[in-house]
Amino acid sequence: MVVTRGGPRPEGSALGVDIGGTNIKWVHRAGAAVVARGTLPTPAAGPAGVAATIAEIAGAHTVEAIGVALPGHLSPDLRSTTTIPNLDGDWQRFPLADTLERATAKPVLLMNDARAFASAELALGSARGHADVVFMTMGTGIGGAIALGGTVLRGSGDRIGEIGHMTAEPGGDPCGCGARGCLETVAGGRTLAARWALASGGTGNQAPSATPEDLVGAARSGDTTAREILETVALAVGTVLGSVLAQLGLSTVVVGGGVAPAFDVMRPAVELALRDRRALVGPVTLLAAELGPYGGAMGAALNATARPLAAPSTPSRLSVIP
Ligand SMILES: [Zn+2]
Repeated sequence: MVVTRGGPRPEGSALGVDIGGTNIKWVHRAGAAVVARGTLPTPAAGPAGVAATIAEIAGAHTVEAIGVALPGHLSPDLRSTTTIPNLDGDWQRFPLADTLERATAKPVLLMNDARAFASAELALGSARGHADVVFMTMGTGIGGAIALGGTVLRGSGDRIGEIGHMTAEPGGDPCGCGARGCLETVAGGRTLAARWALASGGTGNQAPSATPEDLVGAARSGDTTAREILETVALAVGTVLGSVLAQLGLSTVVVGGGVAPAFDVMRPAVELALRDRRALVGPVTLLAAELGPYGGAMGAALNATARPLAAPSTPSRLSVIP
């Protein structure tokens, strides 16, 4: 596989682990090749249980380094977790990198999962060859990332690119982040699944039994109601994306995540919203992510060997992935 431009170079060998609310996905990478990969349920025992599970996976593989992608934010030195809203347990100030380095005797890098996904797509996926890209992951939540000059921006605490928490509906439903009407409350997987459960004859209380994947599957097989739900939220997605592109002056977008396989249903409404931005950003290129559900784990594995792992004594305000 050839890396033409941008993203971390796939050097050495590493384990990449992507921690989700439901599953942990891992990839054992050597160079750009995937040697092995797997999925297992996320333990409910909180951060100590998750750390023990990662150490167990690492013990079964011979790698130089370990990268861990997390669905939330990190401390300014990127060594501990802070806000991880969708995982069980108290993750505030949990020293995950130190804990894992003691348990595995390997250097450990922590990063946000959307930024991990973005760096993998930039190096090996649909964004290879591009330098300036906006990334959006549509799954249970909505994640985002921004690459400028072939580099995924991270910032203090790995907090740059939270497209899902831009306002789509002022005064709308409360979001897990504490604000109201974020794009995630309008077009996130939980909202889509709840709408699908209601439309399928259930009640609000039954909504958790439906998943975003159920809706995506129905939409792809031509179900009119499922397609209408996606088309309705697509305008909000396009409007927020248009704001991001106008602000940054960018015109390339990569869309991934569990809802992405049904993005073709949303595309016309998203493109309609983006058409209003043409004077500012020109024609917009909307690309589907290529690396699939292991993209986040691959990004963590790529970055684990891509930069000095020692934490800077004074974290820069805008640290980046080389
Ligand atoms: Zn929010």
